Amino acid sequence: MTKVSQKIHDLIDCDLVLDKNKLQNVMINFEREIKKGLKKASQAESEVKCFVTYVTKLPQGSETGKFLALDLGGTNFRVLLIHLKGEEDYEFESKIYAIPQSIMLGSGTELFDHIAFCLAEFVRENKVQDEVLPLGFTFSFPCQQNGLTKGLLIKWTKGFNCSDVVNKNVVELLEDAIRKRNDIKILICAILNDTTGTLMSCAWKYNNCKIGVIIGTGTNACYMEKSCKAEFFETNDKVREENVIINTEFGAFGEKGSLNEIITMYDKDVDENSINAGNQLFEKMISGMYMGELVRLVIVRLAEKKLLFNGKISEKLKTRYQFYTKYVSEIEADDENVFMMAREVLNELDIHDATDEDCRIVRYCCEVISRRAAQLVSSALAVLMLRIGDPNITIGVDGSVYRFHPKFHDLMTDTIKEIVPSNYNFKFVLSEDGSGRGAALVAAVASRDIKDKI
Ligand code: BGC
Ligand code: MG
Repeated sequence: MTKVSQKIHDLIDCDLVLDKNKLQNVMINFEREIKKGLKKASQAESEVKCFVTYVTKLPQGSETGKFLALDLGGTNFRVLLIHLKGEEDYEFESKIYAIPQSIMLGSGTELFDHIAFCLAEFVRENKVQDEVLPLGFTFSFPCQQNGLTKGLLIKWTKGFNCSDVVNKNVVELLEDAIRKRNDIKILICAILNDTTGTLMSCAWKYNNCKIGVIIGTGTNACYMEKSCKAEFFETNDKVREENVIINTEFGAFGEKGSLNEIITMYDKDVDENSINAGNQLFEKMISGMYMGELVRLVIVRLAEKKLLFNGKISEKLKTRYQFYTKYVSEIEADDENVFMMAREVLNELDIHDATDEDCRIVRYCCEVISRRAAQLVSSALAVLMLRIGDPNITIGVDGSVYRFHPKFHDLMTDTIKEIVPSNYNFKFVLSEDGSGRGAALVAAVASRDIKDKI
């Protein structure tokens, strides 16, 4: 960590630096909420819903065929055409489409019409408009599922808030929009969360992958649970599958008070000024949508106390969300005692006369916020690892924070080593395109099942 004066420590550390004891309390609370989420009698009160995904089988690596995938809910909206060739080989085409903010905050009909429009354009451009391709829909929001192709949206998160979608079956809304156009034929095989796609995509290569986690715009994890523990898992199959992937939706952890001991004035500020106040409190302490804003609030407070920039605060620095999360990654990538990126970022924020000491403090603020994020997400992952109980485990990860922050991977590894027994061997693996390839794999495994039954 960057060295700063005692004064700065005194002001920052008591709130934002978490010791092992605090992390252990987070773990205890998290485990309690997971257990509540899995049970019918207590899910309603639980902060962590633990939705059943109905994905029971990991891919074998031999899956083949052509699939379409949609990926909605991260930084970009994408449409993909994936050709699985077996033996862990695949090819794909994809296209990113913008979702303007007016649609993110508009009506559900507009959103799904837009998705159907992009899909139609994409299949035409790729000359597959006359094939009936199976489609996996990666929809990265909390959904209550009661089958692979039925997901009721429980609430919007991140920057989305479209009207008339909550409590509706998202697959049906998409099918309606496609039917209305009457120019494409598609078979929606599965709706899945991006964490499920991440787990599946990673399990394609690493068969001991049992956790999928996203640390991006939002944050969440899923894991392999014994199906007898998942009370909501209902099936007509004669043989009940042994395991099922559970989408924890741990971003909502803390909504009923479990994190009160560690929530700070900065977290409250972010929450109160968000479009979903009171929701997704754990996510707001961790994910990329909020990380830069948290750093900005800490910096502004220090400047107000005249401990930074001689007390001067530029208009940009005063403006919400003007301290981008990518700045945190850039600043922390500087070598020790070099503040090249810190200076560049401060220049972009119209602070042109920062001293080395100012830069050092700004970097410390970034480090404190990103380390806390890594520790919190790690505490939750450690609980999942202990629940699974397999001391050799691979964790599939994706998301912009994990990908681009220079220290996030190491911070997570170090934290988990400290809190799980020493016989645990775990590995974080960047999951290649979980939302695309993972969706194709879920669709493939699902269509394999359908074929098996015929
Ligand atoms: C959503 C999750 C999603 C996560 C990462 C959260 O806001 O609720 O469903 O997995 O973001 O994209
Ligand atoms: Mg994504």
